[in-house]
Amino acid sequence: MKGRFAPSPTGYIHLGNVWIALLSFLSTKQQDGTYVVRMEDIDLQRSKREYGEALLDDLEWLGFTWDEGPRVGGPEKSYWQSERLGLYDEILSSFALEKRIYPCFCNRARLQSIASAPHRGEVRHHYDGYCRMLSNEAIAALCTDKKPSYRLRVDTQSFLFDDRYQGHQVFTLQSGNDDFVLRRSDGMYAYNLAVVVDDIKMGITEVIRGHDLLDATVQQLYLYKLLGAQPPIYGHAPLLIDSAGYRLSKRQKSITIRELKALQWMPERIIGELAVLAGFIERSSAPVISLAELIELTLDTPALHQDNIVIDALRA
Ligand code: GLU
Repeated sequence: MKGRFAPSPTGYIHLGNVWIALLSFLSTKQQDGTYVVRMEDIDLQRSKREYGEALLDDLEWLGFTWDEGPRVGGPEKSYWQSERLGLYDEILSSFALEKRIYPCFCNRARLQSIASAPHRGEVRHHYDGYCRMLSNEAIAALCTDKKPSYRLRVDTQSFLFDDRYQGHQVFTLQSGNDDFVLRRSDGMYAYNLAVVVDDIKMGITEVIRGHDLLDATVQQLYLYKLLGAQPPIYGHAPLLIDSAGYRLSKRQKSITIRELKALQWMPERIIGELAVLAGFIERSSAPVISLAELIELTLDTPALHQDNIVIDALRA
């Protein structure tokens, strides 16, 4: 099997990122698999190479190792998505030839006005299929003053999968309403396309990631089907949040691994706290364990079916 950690280097890493890295790394190690690190830096406005390098430094400091990825190489030419754009171009061109995509000229304000409140288990309906039926003449006219995004022409389909943490999942994509963007109007590729193309190309068989990406999985399953590839096993782990309900992610103001390091936290202490949250080791007042020691233990799949875990104590 092959597992992976695919962070977006848009800031210094937090416990929330390390939590996902830990779960995916240990799951791969328990199965004697190959572990891949891939940098998802296709959002050229938000991602920075220096954050990517800092992230790799922090992972190394914490004791993570990877079999394929930046700094160690592997069968792929690059493990930075910004250096893999040709692959996404190829897939998009083949979809264009098959008439599976169409240009969409809708602006953000219009898209927001049609977005309805998302409910759990339902895909957000961002779109009403407005540009699906445009004539060639209309497209040519619109193209003169606006660059379009490109949407996939979706056929109504349901997808079922068993999530390692969240259990049985059923999602339906509706033709038109759920036609999703593969390339943005600024030319950047959408996460859903890049992640699927790369996971297929890299032979990933298990994807462990944050619960916030559960709803995107159906779009990815749709792409797997179109591309004739076997989807991976998914595990969507609860997000770590603080007691005010804020997610411990780089977008929120919360403590980074760099700050913890500056406060004299040792890697074993950080890993120890996260290992307690996953139920890998017993709770104690100051849990300490290294990744190398954790790998040696026989670990059950953690019971992580909740959406969030509050970890305020860690910040004390
Ligand atoms: N790059 C995404 C993120 O950092 C995760 C992608 C994935 O694991 O599928 O949020």
